[in-house]
Amino acid sequence: MKQSKLFLPTLRETPAEAEIASHKFMVRAGMMRQLASGVYTYLPLGYRVLRKVQQIVREEMDRAGAQEIVMPAIQPAELWQETGRWEAYGPELMRLKDRHNRDFVLGPTHEEVVTSLVRDNLNTYKKLPINLYQIQTKYRDEVRPRFGVIRSREFIMKDAYSFDTDRPGLDQSYQGMYDAYTSIFTRAGLKFRAVEADAGAIGGKGTHEFMALSEIGEDTIAYCTSCNYAANLEKAEVVYKPDGGQKDQAEMEKVATPDVKTIAQLMNHFNAEAREFIKAIVFKADDRFVMALVRGDHEVNDIKVKNLIDANVLELATDKEIAEIRLPLGFIGPVGLPDGIEVVADTAVRDLVNVVCGANEQDFHYKNATPGKDFQVSQYADLRNIVEGDECPRCGGHIAFARGIEVGHVFKLGTRYSEKMGAKFLDENGKEQLMVMGCYGIGISRTVAACVEQNNDEDGIVWPWGLAPYQIHVVPVNVKNEEQRNLADTIYQTLQKAGYEVLLDDRPERAGVKFKDADLIGLPIRITVGGKAAEGLVECKIRKTRETQEMHIDSLPDFVAEIKQSLQ
Ligand code: ATP
Ligand code: MG
Repeated sequence: MKQSKLFLPTLRETPAEAEIASHKFMVRAGMMRQLASGVYTYLPLGYRVLRKVQQIVREEMDRAGAQEIVMPAIQPAELWQETGRWEAYGPELMRLKDRHNRDFVLGPTHEEVVTSLVRDNLNTYKKLPINLYQIQTKYRDEVRPRFGVIRSREFIMKDAYSFDTDRPGLDQSYQGMYDAYTSIFTRAGLKFRAVEADAGAIGGKGTHEFMALSEIGEDTIAYCTSCNYAANLEKAEVVYKPDGGQKDQAEMEKVATPDVKTIAQLMNHFNAEAREFIKAIVFKADDRFVMALVRGDHEVNDIKVKNLIDANVLELATDKEIAEIRLPLGFIGPVGLPDGIEVVADTAVRDLVNVVCGANEQDFHYKNATPGKDFQVSQYADLRNIVEGDECPRCGGHIAFARGIEVGHVFKLGTRYSEKMGAKFLDENGKEQLMVMGCYGIGISRTVAACVEQNNDEDGIVWPWGLAPYQIHVVPVNVKNEEQRNLADTIYQTLQKAGYEVLLDDRPERAGVKFKDADLIGLPIRITVGGKAAEGLVECKIRKTRETQEMHIDSLPDFVAEIKQSLQ
């Protein structure tokens, strides 16, 4: 491609809304432009990269036996009413009406559509298993679109759905997708990790997230420094270790603590460590209230609380709700609670003796409170976030943290959708059975951004070979010079014939401008054609290492092949 013809509007300035490197560089390098908050146009350079990711995804999905289809973005509300998600999905669902006032949604995901498709067109075990996938635009009205296409409101996803006759079949389909995802992200050159994630209401070990490792990731990954264990913080299991120390139980005492509310203030006031306090957190769980207790130095994990009490929706009680149940903010505790509030506690709370907790009375705490003696707990369970240094639940090693961007997600759905939508098949005995489903997503546009996030420096993007929009940038320093122009053109033609994707900067710009743009766009190899063109000498620069070397054009094919090898 000749750069003089390419629609490639690069920018010197960082766009004001860009907080992170990938967003900044994807706009500056002319890959994309924002149309509205969280809605982007892909320009030629950006779209090439997107297509490269799609190509890898297609090849690996096809290899795994999945079949490509395309489903509509517009979906009738009735389908979503069948599964109850018309209400449950909430404001993230983009809703619209047609001219007859009928309700529709712009699909955020396609379980409803694909389940109805298979239900209506396939009804025998002979046709199962089947795995259908598509690469398609999704719509989600995110509360806070940000980070460019990492969290946008319109984005491209690959979504696949497997249908099996039974659970072991699903396990196999799931493993096939897990392996395909591993190949996809490896080929895309990402540093990533598959982590166990929370399966929500479905339970079991039914889901993994594929995380691109990055400081700007919104998810925390807890991983073991000795073995393979890795889990999303929301899911990571804490190993309960009984606190061996024996302490005599003292008489509980009420203590005035005016304006002493936070753990830090309490530690100061009581001259005690955080682990000698109980934190009480009140949740609204569906239509009841639940109090969760953790030790003062621990953080409650609301997903674990939600799973323990089997709530559909669990949220922190608002200040208003807390006032309604007559609890004084900052002085809340488990002793003498109003009726009807269930108390659950983290296992570490069971071992506490003579600790401080709120007295449910403005400006008062109790000291020397002991569970079992001074208050009752209905269930003890793992309810806290794991912390660095905790024991690994698999091998006893140590847990460390990393941050990740979720680029893919594999999920065992079971019969959740087939049951609600009546997706059944006839088995060998002519008996009707529910199909057993799995779903598997990859954020295509997010993967491109995650790749840029992992591969950049202060001057711009540093493309890995596999996703680079072009692999080679040929830059004649002065296109008015005929020798330079001709040599650059020869190199351009030759390398293209050899099968490389080449961008030729034939613009009549100053060398400085061209080099700045070249670094910003970040193609793996730059070949500069300058003053020694007449001798057939050019300068080659590796974007990643910034190494440059002069060579004769006859050496270029071998050199390029070698660099390709080393960057793959
Ligand atoms: P997140 O927790 O980041 O919102 P999710 O759990 O809602 O993600 P899924 O429903 O599993 O995501 O969607 C499958 C994939 O689609 C995700 O792994 C992610 O790569 C991508 N994705 C989800 N939401 C967005 C978005 N708003 N913008 C870009 N990609 C997205
Ligand atoms: Mg989401």
